[in-house]
Amino acid sequence: MTQSSAYRDPAVAAGLLDRIRDKAATFARPVTLMEVCGTHTMAIHEHGLRGLLPAGIRLVSGPGCPVCVTPIDYVDQALALCRLPDTIITTFGDMVRVPGSQTSLLEEKARGADIRIVYSALDAVSLARHNPDRQVVFLGVGFETTAPTVAGAILQAQQAGLDNFSVLCAHKTMPAPMQALSADPDLQVDGYLCPAHVSAIIGADAYTELTTRYRVPCVVTGFEPLDILQGVDMLVSQIVGGIARVENQYCRYVKNAGNPRAQQLLTQVFEPCDARWRGLGLITASGLQIRAAYSFFDAAQRFGVTVAPAAEPLGCRCGEILKGKLGPRDCPLFGQRCTPATPVGACMVSSEGTCAAEYKYGF
Ligand code: SF4
Repeated sequence: MTQSSAYRDPAVAAGLLDRIRDKAATFARPVTLMEVCGTHTMAIHEHGLRGLLPAGIRLVSGPGCPVCVTPIDYVDQALALCRLPDTIITTFGDMVRVPGSQTSLLEEKARGADIRIVYSALDAVSLARHNPDRQVVFLGVGFETTAPTVAGAILQAQQAGLDNFSVLCAHKTMPAPMQALSADPDLQVDGYLCPAHVSAIIGADAYTELTTRYRVPCVVTGFEPLDILQGVDMLVSQIVGGIARVENQYCRYVKNAGNPRAQQLLTQVFEPCDARWRGLGLITASGLQIRAAYSFFDAAQRFGVTVAPAAEPLGCRCGEILKGKLGPRDCPLFGQRCTPATPVGACMVSSEGTCAAEYKYGF
């Protein structure tokens, strides 16, 4: 038995589902559990877990896909940068397909802009080293999982004395939007499956305020089917017992205090800032901006491109989907005007997007 198949054992899954069903039968009303991680969303769809849970448990997706929560204005900024002379835009794959107000990076690439997909921010630093006559801009999008690697890239560029590397920074941090969702009187989230990758950096203790202030149970959960079912079972147990605390199902990788070295990198290069989330609006101290000491590497400051405020595409329901208010099929464009080949909203673009997951596994 491989390690992976050990976490996919159908007999263990059946036992967990029995336990979940027994506990759900005692609920006075249906409960809503939210996963706040795009990889969880994909795993839930891939293994058909939503359909296995009893009717009293509603599993919804939240703002866990970094590409999906990046505002259109940011895409427009990247598009403006790619039109500057002698500039190379570097990015992880999904961002190139996200529609901006008028066009996308992929369309601009087809028109001749130099846009390159890289596998890490360090690849972008290397590109800058080999192209001293050109400006290399990396699109810094992602949560605490990727931000430390971008911090490391900035430090490496500084050490190498590179004056042609910079980051267009839109990094976001995780517990803050979960608190914003919990404070929203229109939403009722009864428990969170907390993101595993992010938690490996920030630690399980980072969710304590959610459980003490908002009384919402939190379980840090892994990505295998049995991880997710056990995470649901742990949440359901807390709900039945009237408890709200942080539990760590994914203790084989996540520590309560997280990863101190990655946290130190984050703190050295970035500082918290208020950030706008697509669909969720402005959330206090939910973003990361480059500290003044490293402002030389801040593409927004170095190039000063400004763009007009952007409107969401007509009919797109990404905002409500990112809040867990609606599902992909509630959007009138789903599978019609909006498909992975012709995405209208970011939720259909990203490999971790809720609409993309529903299209891939459920359409
Ligand atoms: S189907 Fe497309 S337009 Fe509708 S919410 Fe999803 S991504 Fe947005």
